[in-house]
Amino acid sequence: PTDINALADEYLRLAYHGIRAKDKSFNADFKTELEPNLPKVPVITQDFGRVLLNIINNAFYAIKDKTGKGQVIVKTSKIDDEIEIRISDNGTGIPEHVKAKIFQPFFTTKPTGQGTGLGLSLAYDIVSKGHGGSLEVETKEGEGTTFIIKLPYL
Ligand code: ADP
Ligand code: MG
Repeated sequence: PTDINALADEYLRLAYHGIRAKDKSFNADFKTELEPNLPKVPVITQDFGRVLLNIINNAFYAIKDKTGKGQVIVKTSKIDDEIEIRISDNGTGIPEHVKAKIFQPFFTTKPTGQGTGLGLSLAYDIVSKGHGGSLEVETKEGEGTTFIIKLPYL
């Protein structure tokens, strides 16, 4: 059983400082909104950590060229017998024709060398097949994107 709040907080900081280490001019707001007393969830920490890190890195990437302040928020909550983790950015958003492909292996819109296109397909498999949960996306072009992970805790 893992404290998802602690994991979310750790990986958000890790992602931000990782990007800052490579690009000193990168600047963004980031914050967590964590539900206190969130039930612990049985996850394979290494796998689930990779899921969080990839989705959070994607979120920071989506705000990197934004005019005005970019923001990434990680929220946790408990809904019925699942916990929900929402990773939101106010970045580029995803056009419909791109959204249809983002969970496919090797699909990327990033320049050569900047993305393998494997992050979300791996995340999808780890969350669904590995943990019996679900991974969904809500997005609006030009406004931002939210990835929603649901994990059963019973
Ligand atoms: P990669 O990051 O290597 O491109 P991913 O599987 O993580 O591969 O993501 C696939 C594609 O989904 C990205 O190239 C991008 O087009 C889109 N995408 C993912 N997350 C976001 C986001 N938060 N905002 C906008 N586009 C996104
Ligand atoms: Mg990625």
